[in-house]
Amino acid sequence: MKKKILITGGAGFIGKHICERLLNGKNYVYCLDNLYSSSLTNISPLFSKKNFEFLNHDIEKKIDINIDEIYHFACPASPVNYKLDPIKTIKTNVIGSLNILELAYKYNAKVFHSSTSEVYGDPAISPQSEKYFGNVNIIGPRSCYDEGKRCAETLFFDFHRSKKIQIKVARIFNTYGPFMQKNDGRVISNFVVQALNNKNITVYGNGKQTRSFCYIDDLIDGILKFMNTSKKITGPINLGNPHEIKIIDVAKKIIKLTNSKSKIKYLPLTKDDPLQRKPDIAKAKKILKFKPNININDGLIKTINYFKNE
Ligand code: UDP
Repeated sequence: MKKKILITGGAGFIGKHICERLLNGKNYVYCLDNLYSSSLTNISPLFSKKNFEFLNHDIEKKIDINIDEIYHFACPASPVNYKLDPIKTIKTNVIGSLNILELAYKYNAKVFHSSTSEVYGDPAISPQSEKYFGNVNIIGPRSCYDEGKRCAETLFFDFHRSKKIQIKVARIFNTYGPFMQKNDGRVISNFVVQALNNKNITVYGNGKQTRSFCYIDDLIDGILKFMNTSKKITGPINLGNPHEIKIIDVAKKIIKLTNSKSKIKYLPLTKDDPLQRKPDIAKAKKILKFKPNININDGLIKTINYFKNE
């Protein structure tokens, strides 16, 4: 059956990939975005498709369209972007999620929510499983995003319990790949663009902080599998690649893979930057048979090739 699917944040990095995959399934896709931290160039190849519609809309305002499913991504996700206007970030997460849940309730739509590893804050345990409640600063510069996303999860589960909405809540860990915004400030796009231009690679702090990077195609597979699980599976489920790496080693790897003349430049660490991050994906493995296939070298080569042509 042809489904009517709404993708909020559809012009963003993950949203664009989801739009493409769902269009291939012959669904009718509404791509909603306010273009705050994304761009139309990401989705311009989709405009010619008959089953694709772009809605320039900010989810802080209510929306009413008859839909069967929602994928809710709308929110700036790069620390640089979400810290620019923290009050707007909170409104997007809280009021925006409320509006999306009310829409889901009205049309009895199943709704996927893109939560984040940031709900774990600067974690005191590693790896982070879904059972861990996190270590989040309530009043710091990252709190607008971290607490906003935590509150959004609460809203999703309250709507599920009280209004019986079908929800799928995923906690997405660092993801990278083609169609990341070149200048959104995230580590992989920053380092690749710097290396390709033989500019200094900006490592914040001593570079010993860790992240675990998942290639976009692996993440999209996990999201789509999750959306197709039975009603009783709500999450939260971690989605990411557990291969943990120090940021300094990411810098060195990218210099090598691009054959760059760039030097490493150390800059101060930003406040509350988590020192470690690694997903426990046992739950995703068990429930979704999720298995990231693309290792960091292969993923970086694909990403570097994309940025070379940008
Ligand atoms: N980072 C860095 N240089 C940059 C951008 C980021 O050293 O130019 C570091 C940042 O301090 C963090 C990690 O890379 O420890 C990941 O940062 P990003 O902004 O990509 O996402 P986060 O995981 O912090 O949300």
